Amino acid sequence: MKRLCVFAGASPGARPQYARAAQDLAKALVERDLILIYGGCRVGLMGILADAALEAGGEVIGVIPERLFAKEIPHMGLTELHIVKSMHERKQVMADLSDGFIALPGGVGTLEELTEIYTWGQLGLHRKPCGILNVEGYFTYLIQFLDHAVHERFLKPTHRDTLLVGTEPGPLLDEFASYRAPRLGKWLDRAST
Ligand code: AMP
Repeated sequence: MKRLCVFAGASPGARPQYARAAQDLAKALVERDLILIYGGCRVGLMGILADAALEAGGEVIGVIPERLFAKEIPHMGLTELHIVKSMHERKQVMADLSDGFIALPGGVGTLEELTEIYTWGQLGLHRKPCGILNVEGYFTYLIQFLDHAVHERFLKPTHRDTLLVGTEPGPLLDEFASYRAPRLGKWLDRAST
């Protein structure tokens, strides 16, 4: 793994622990020589994450749609900033640049980005690790929902297990480093989508 994508809220959230977790994750990435790929803006947890990675001496690549400039304010101090045309292009570029994906707490934007890349793994479109940092139990209801989906047979246990869950960045990144995607047989490949 060389480059890791982090999805995170465009807001800082209600508790200082969220910002602290973003800073801890950024430092853990830099300690492992991982380049941070993220949404490219200056606001919220995303901005806190990028600033902490830069401050620790890391490289940070942002990907932001031009139409979001007014709302999310691009971070002009990054190693690289890719300006793209749309939300879809943003997600595709982030996916192509990254060797793994972690979600920090965030709103529906974060949830959408996480679930899309998680489903792409389920479909066999990539074999990269995907996980969540469950800071202060923020994602516990989502984890419970996934377990419910397995129980109700809408989600295969093997696919459920491809979403790695951690409460501390170090152990989660260790799991990422040793992750091997299950061999489930491809349902689809990129050429067929
Ligand atoms: P949120 O978690 O709602 O604060 O949003 C986090 C980030 O996700 C923000 O940069 C949003 O612009 C971005 N986002 C929201 N919806 C989408 C989408 N459909 N595709 C790509 N990024 C999105």
